[in-house]
Amino acid sequence: MLNLIKSVLTTIAVSSGIALILLPLVNNFWAVFAVAAITQFVVFYIVGSVIDFLAEIKLKQIEAFKLAEYSKQGIEVECPCHRKIREFVPVTLNQKNSYKCNECGKNNSILIHAETAYLTEPISQLTAQLPDDKV
Ligand SMILES: [Zn+2]
Repeated sequence: MLNLIKSVLTTIAVSSGIALILLPLVNNFWAVFAVAAITQFVVFYIVGSVIDFLAEIKLKQIEAFKLAEYSKQGIEVECPCHRKIREFVPVTLNQKNSYKCNECGKNNSILIHAETAYLTEPISQLTAQLPDDKV
């Protein structure tokens, strides 16, 4: 509310100043005042719209970046409660991880179990290499 009052007073002051400056040329204070005030409202509306638009684009970029980063450091887990709700939660390897189930509201610890396995290739991508004595 205070910002609105300050904005209106600033608009009135600027419009009055422009009207006083142009008074010798136009000789109608209120007409110049009205044009200056309307022009300010239009310009500020356009500037505000552009700023809002740019801020929205920036916010969407930040959200997309956040989701991309979140997907790199998250894991899908299943709540141990009877509902077995699956959720995608963030994890960090260098600290204890926990999350709160959105359904039952209980805090759950996330235990990360690492396994190793040989890297393999699908059979369809392997080229047959028979030993020389079998050819
Ligand atoms: Zn649960």
